[in-house]
Amino acid sequence: MGILYLFFTFYTHLANSGKIIILCWIPSHVNIRGNERADTAAKSALSLPITNMKLPACELIPCVSKFCLDEWQDIWDCCKGNKLHTHCLTVKHSKNMSCYDSVLLNRLRIGHSRLTHSYLLYGDGPPTCQSCGIPLTVKHILVECSNLRAIREKHFTVSSVTDLFKSIDNHTIINFMKETHFYHQL
Ligand SMILES: [Zn+2]
Repeated sequence: MGILYLFFTFYTHLANSGKIIILCWIPSHVNIRGNERADTAAKSALSLPITNMKLPACELIPCVSKFCLDEWQDIWDCCKGNKLHTHCLTVKHSKNMSCYDSVLLNRLRIGHSRLTHSYLLYGDGPPTCQSCGIPLTVKHILVECSNLRAIREKHFTVSSVTDLFKSIDNHTIINFMKETHFYHQL
């Protein structure tokens, strides 16, 4: 009820201020093959007899995690045509890393970020590096910008973005970003 109330309040406010609002219906997960298989597998477990065997969660969770990670890796190994494959050959969870840093690292990997790509949403021109005067990209920040060279060399020396994600530890990349003014902007 609270969400509905909020929705109608915002909707009315925007409509009254002259905005044109188009509502889109977003289909659920119906007809998504992987999702339906997961649903069927989960439901089939309901008919299995309940075992009395006691298994501590601390023993079960690592096995389930490893199984899921292996399955994920098998799928990713078949995606060699994906342009992100060269940046990340091994699927893994970012250990001992905050949620913010994990998101940032993924944005750096895929080369898409709020700072470098939000202009597409607003219809502006692409941003430029204030120091170099050339288009500002994630690649430029990570390996090219001469204004960041001194900070970069404190953390790593690499020849390319691919080299960076292959040979440099995730925490080192994050520490580099923290020293730049881009850490909170991407
Ligand atoms: Zn630059």
